[in-house]
Amino acid sequence: MGINPRFYGWINEATLKTANHANFVNVRLTYLHLFWVQKSGFSARAGPGDRTQKEENMQKNKQRVMHLDMDAFFAAIEQRDNPALRHKPVIIGGPPGSRGVVSTCSYEARRYGAHSAMPLPTAKKLCPHAIFLPVNGAKYVHVSRRLMKILQRYSPQLEPVSVDEAFLNISGLARIYKSEKELGRKIKRDILDELQLTCTIGIASSKILAKLASGLNKPDGLNIIEDEEMERIVYPLPVRKLWGIGEATEKALARLGIKTIGNLACFPELKLKKVFGKNGPLMARAAAGKLDSPVHGLEELPAEKSVGHEHTFRNDTDDVEQIRAQLLLLVQRVGRRMRKRNVRGKTVTLKLRYENFETHTHRTSLNSYTNNEGQIFSLTEQLWRQIYNLKRKIRLIGVSVSHLVEREPAGLELPFRDEQLRIKADDLLLPTVDKIKDTYGENAIWRASGLLLKRE
Ligand SMILES: [Mg+2]
Repeated sequence: MGINPRFYGWINEATLKTANHANFVNVRLTYLHLFWVQKSGFSARAGPGDRTQKEENMQKNKQRVMHLDMDAFFAAIEQRDNPALRHKPVIIGGPPGSRGVVSTCSYEARRYGAHSAMPLPTAKKLCPHAIFLPVNGAKYVHVSRRLMKILQRYSPQLEPVSVDEAFLNISGLARIYKSEKELGRKIKRDILDELQLTCTIGIASSKILAKLASGLNKPDGLNIIEDEEMERIVYPLPVRKLWGIGEATEKALARLGIKTIGNLACFPELKLKKVFGKNGPLMARAAAGKLDSPVHGLEELPAEKSVGHEHTFRNDTDDVEQIRAQLLLLVQRVGRRMRKRNVRGKTVTLKLRYENFETHTHRTSLNSYTNNEGQIFSLTEQLWRQIYNLKRKIRLIGVSVSHLVEREPAGLELPFRDEQLRIKADDLLLPTVDKIKDTYGENAIWRASGLLLKRE
């Protein structure tokens, strides 16, 4: 079974550039998770002698989940490939003077307080002697593919969370490998032998708890949480350790006097519902280890919801020509990625971030599905004219297409005949353009208006 390319669809350039995106994916998955909630067959445990046959079976069939997280993945790969970098603070993200953020830090750099998503100049201040490297996305994706293949040897129920993290359904595997600890050790050994990289593994009865377990002792850790140990190990931890609880929720919980996971697990659900709506009781059940969704195999992964690209200008700009040329470049990339993945979409979203970080997004929809960049660009331009405020400089622009389908539903007519002809011509031309780019690189052929793009 191969790796589902949709998974790699999540790894766009921006994902590889910022760890923020990794968090974004996590948040997105958490939401999906909350939608897919299944009531687990959790029940209070009786002593072994009191178990009925039914309980015995439930116990046997209980889901056990492994969460595997590579240690400082991008930095570890660079250190592996260049011995001169080993045992040194390495920061992946770009040159320290640039406006990007830290993608990954080696553990040596973390000791100085540098961390993911931190602006690069800040990391430079904290750790001036660190070695700064650009993100080598293609290399990391290649290693990631090999990693996922190793994991698939153990269980077909593999659900990647990001480029360096995955859930594995390991229910029943402990019997084959003697114990869960042995299974964990064996997977760690395989990864070390074949990729020369270390990882941290958490094992528990739900995805949320497995993820929490892997976060407890990084790097190179192996942590197993048994249900009996919930109160001892998990309850004293701060709520923030729970997947999906961010700073804002943490503060709101603190106002209710909820500091630890145990506080949350024991808090009356009705009161939580008043403050957090239907997510309140879900949080409490997650904290008590009673909330779970199954590990989704690769085939069942939710499809990518949108295809998008963003650009941060080196210097904030109000040069309209320059912005338009950059938009066109982004649209071309979006169109190309959609065609590669063989999807079409009908909603185009334009995102603008002004110099003061104020961010606006506007969207509009076609009445048909497209992956034709000419069509996407004309919608993008419409949106641009609607929202751009000439008095202010732009820091970031982004374009995305959503409402994706793999095949266009039949019977949809395009609005005007001229437009139809132009789009048809483009549809004939684009496969050839794609082939040229595949053979000679992304810059081999451009739309003429892209030439207005100045070197930044
Ligand atoms: Mg990691």
